[in-house]
Amino acid sequence: MDENNKKILKEGGYRITPQRTQVLCAISTNPQSVEEIYETVSQGTIKTDLASVYRALTLFVKLKLVQAVNFGDGKDRYEILNTHKHHHHALCTRCGKITDVELQDGKKLEREASKKTNYRITGHSLEFFGICHNCCNA
Ligand SMILES: [Zn+2]
Ligand SMILES: [Zn+2]
Ligand SMILES: [Zn+2]
Repeated sequence: MDENNKKILKEGGYRITPQRTQVLCAISTNPQSVEEIYETVSQGTIKTDLASVYRALTLFVKLKLVQAVNFGDGKDRYEILNTHKHHHHALCTRCGKITDVELQDGKKLEREASKKTNYRITGHSLEFFGICHNCCNA
């Protein structure tokens, strides 16, 4: 767990437990579903269950350490927030690989959406689907 995340937990009055550390560690490189995180954490020495992993994630989302990414496939995936700036994802529909996509979309999209809907837009998420390089070559 990086220092900044530790600080946020401490300031919120939350303990830095090995389980919380492992949950964050499991998503340090790629967004993962609760089940995948649970699997990764249980491979280590820490005893855990799905409900505890879910509780840890809910806390991290509340503290804005983690965000949920939704590809509309009924499965929320979680990723670490503070190391990433705003970005999008590409999901391989064959193997499930997820790649970050940084686009220069800035505030333009949001301004356009705001104009069309009269909403005060506070954010957006945009995900891409396709077939990754590996799967294309398989
Ligand atoms: Zn693939
Ligand atoms: Zn990402
Ligand atoms: Zn964007």
